[in-house]
Amino acid sequence: MIGFTPTEEQQQLVRTARGYAERHIRPLVERVKRDGPPADPWPLVQPVFAEGAALGLTRLFLAPDLGGMGGSCLDAVLMLEELGAADVGLASDYFALTACMPLMAARAGGASAEAFLRRFADAPAMVLAGAQSEPDVPGSELMMAGPDPAFGPKLSALESPDGWRLTGRKSAFITNAGAADCYFIIARTDPALPVFSGLSIFLVPAGTPGLTVGRKTKLIGWPLTTHAELVLDDVRLPADALIGTRGGAAMTFASVPEMPVCLAACFVGLARAAFEHAKGYAADRRSMGQPIARHQAVALKLAEMAVNVETARLHVWQAAAACASDPMRAAMLLAPMAKATAVDMAIRNAELAVQVLGGYGVTAEYDAGRYLADAWIGWSCDFTRDVLHLGIAQAVTDDG
Ligand SMILES: Cc1cc2nc3c(=O)[nH]c(=O)nc-3n(C[C@H](O)[C@H](O)[C@H](O)COP(=O)(O)OP(=O)(O)OC[C@H]3O[C@@H](n4cnc5c(N)ncnc54)[C@H](O)[C@@H]3O)c2cc1C
Repeated sequence: MIGFTPTEEQQQLVRTARGYAERHIRPLVERVKRDGPPADPWPLVQPVFAEGAALGLTRLFLAPDLGGMGGSCLDAVLMLEELGAADVGLASDYFALTACMPLMAARAGGASAEAFLRRFADAPAMVLAGAQSEPDVPGSELMMAGPDPAFGPKLSALESPDGWRLTGRKSAFITNAGAADCYFIIARTDPALPVFSGLSIFLVPAGTPGLTVGRKTKLIGWPLTTHAELVLDDVRLPADALIGTRGGAAMTFASVPEMPVCLAACFVGLARAAFEHAKGYAADRRSMGQPIARHQAVALKLAEMAVNVETARLHVWQAAAACASDPMRAAMLLAPMAKATAVDMAIRNAELAVQVLGGYGVTAEYDAGRYLADAWIGWSCDFTRDVLHLGIAQAVTDDG
């Protein structure tokens, strides 16, 4: 059966997330609008994140016996749309990512993953990060590398008598680098093997000797987030730092279609926020004796924006439902579709909002320009639109 009505529990989750966003995220967003982007946003974000974590918003996927909500991907996307409407960067980086990484650990399986999940359960405001991309390796290679072992991440993990030794660098895009308590780092355990069997996932706690945070990246938007390089200089890890099976990193990542779907949900929130912003402005702003919303040229833009929100949301809900009912179809087709479409719709709605607001659309006083910069970032985070579309093309043209 196909249902579009959230349950009473889901509606309560939406109310909780919306209330949290209003009380805690919005004031932070207003502060940044007033004072400009902070050089280091984490001290400002940390207490806000801790409030959200205390509400259980990062434990959505964690099993109830570990103190989590045991929620579904549909629950998560409902929650993340609300956070994304308040601030897409904060929603994506701190909440979507931190909520999804434990799911990845659970899917990877094994004793070390279970031990990590217990630690996560006991640390209410733990922040997580995942590091795949590298400075000299195009991020797209992780998805496109195919059977040639020359392509893909190079950071090396050598097995030693007492565990593992990791050496190399991760790109200056690593989300939450410097803020995270724990990093999921992808490393080459077998350089002669291709990406889908030569990479493994290691859990590296912040503060591990040899792990340092390098150059920071300044984005055109997302001022509350932190992205930086990670440098690993002979980082020594115990044998059980490897999560899942040796060589199983690509399979483990593919087993979590929830990750791109959750990211997509944050952009549904942005598409909605841009629409609501433009609608409110068009109701108040008058030209030729009437609200500009009454002029057909503006009304049609608002209509397109409303359609875009529903289009993005339907894609995301469908992909979220498939994460439970048909995870393979979700991973190969519906999750990349949802992410690419939600970002497209967010960008389009932000552009339209800029137009509806006229001159005010390009001022820092109003939100339309901020939405546009924030939306564009979605184009390349967690694989570019083109790379996602190439994956979709493969899925729809392959037989079987
Ligand atoms: C905000 C943000 C957060 C991020 N967070 C993380 C993170 O937490 N962890 C992490 O590991 N990485 C992270 N990244 C990195 C991200 O995954 C990469 O930026 C992304 O995959 C693109 O890689 P690239 O920048 O190297 O571009 P490239 O791979 O160099 O691509 C450049 C252009 O070429 C195209 N292209 C490249 N190869 C092909 C091909 N084979 N066929 C067709 N077209 C191709 C791309 O579509 C793109 O248009 C983040 C990036 C951003 C912007």
